[in-house]
Amino acid sequence: MAKCPACDVGITAADGVQPGELIHCSECESELEVLSVEPFELVLAPKIEEDWGE
Ligand SMILES: [Zn+2]
Repeated sequence: MAKCPACDVGITAADGVQPGELIHCSECESELEVLSVEPFELVLAPKIEEDWGE
């Protein structure tokens, strides 16, 4: 089990989850990136800017 980096709630890896996948914390709804599955580690997903501002 990993902890949400934002609110510290425990999150269990879903079946078939892959590193790099984005999930949402059920508690605070933060977008989290799966860093690794064994052990299960999560980081806050970087905010992706839709406008790259050329
Ligand atoms: Zn959370």
